Amino acid sequence: MNFHSVHKHILKYFVPLVLLALVASARASEKIDVKTIRYWSSPGYTRIVVDLSGSVEFSTNRLSDPDRIYFDLRNSRLTKEIKTTLPVGDGLLKAVRAGQFDAQTVRVVLDLEKIKDFNTFILDSPTRLVIDVNGVEVPKKPETPVVRRRIVIDPGHGGHDPGAIGPSGLYEKDVVLDIALKVKEILTADPLNEVFLTRETDRFISLEERTAIANRKNADFFVSIHANANPVRRVKGIETYLLNWTNDEEAMRVAARENRISLKKMREMNRKMDTLGMILNDLSRCNKRDESIKLANYIQRSMISTLNNERNLNSVDLGVKQALFYVLFGAKMPSVLVEVSFISNPQEEQLLSNESYRRQIAKAIAKGLDTYTNPTPAIQKVAGL
Ligand SMILES: [Zn+2]
Repeated sequence: MNFHSVHKHILKYFVPLVLLALVASARASEKIDVKTIRYWSSPGYTRIVVDLSGSVEFSTNRLSDPDRIYFDLRNSRLTKEIKTTLPVGDGLLKAVRAGQFDAQTVRVVLDLEKIKDFNTFILDSPTRLVIDVNGVEVPKKPETPVVRRRIVIDPGHGGHDPGAIGPSGLYEKDVVLDIALKVKEILTADPLNEVFLTRETDRFISLEERTAIANRKNADFFVSIHANANPVRRVKGIETYLLNWTNDEEAMRVAARENRISLKKMREMNRKMDTLGMILNDLSRCNKRDESIKLANYIQRSMISTLNNERNLNSVDLGVKQALFYVLFGAKMPSVLVEVSFISNPQEEQLLSNESYRRQIAKAIAKGLDTYTNPTPAIQKVAGL
């Protein structure tokens, strides 16, 4: 590195650092509110979400006698409305408690029953601390001859969140709900499939709850269904994502929109994940990376071939990609997010508003899942294919 590049390097980082320091000092007096604590529990898994008014630094520690984990949230205070004790009693946790530990610190305590391990991460806009607690695995009962597949399908958005809106007013939330209902109908024709939807009606459900549902159901697969959007209306095609770090600007843009955070936040998160390789390892370990890649490829190929062969559509194959989607964080099974077409493209919006196109997409997703579980000839097994 020559002098000039060192000089430029320093300049580049010096300016933002000064700004950061200013922002930090302005915020130091402003405490972060700890607003609510929510949780979803099941015998083997509990997800706890602490809702905050902004980003916090936190530390965590495990203490014994009685066994407990605590999280100290710096520069924060409890709001008056918060329920500070939540009895859980699910075999993993006895309770979750929160208290003002000192003038600067809110302490959230998990009183433990019996757990294997836990994972923590922060999601933005609004800020929330997510704690995933895993139970000790119970040895499985001797295998029954019939192997059922449990699939959780997640239609994106809903309720007050319409998702992307097409040029002639079509809502992503409506399109993806209809496709998800059709996937369920097609898959349940096979008695070996057990299918759950994260929502079956037009209602809002947070991203972290969707993953919690899949984990609580002990699903074998998790498929989140979305329609894509781009400010450039001619952009079209089909792509399937799995959870991972990315440096692809376009993939980051898609994930930012689906996470409902700014592109700037998205870039920041990618940078953090890059430096904190550990978090990423955790994510991939939980997320069954190899299986997710395989699943994404089967679904993507199935969509392209179904639409192109059966409709002569010449759909654009944008391929399998990766990005940091909140809805896939902490999912314990092979999980993917499908962007079925661009609702922002007038032609594809027209197609998406068409019942038979939506059915074909649903059939293609079902076929992709089926090919994953039966890679040998049984592609014909799914009803109607
Ligand atoms: Zn979406």
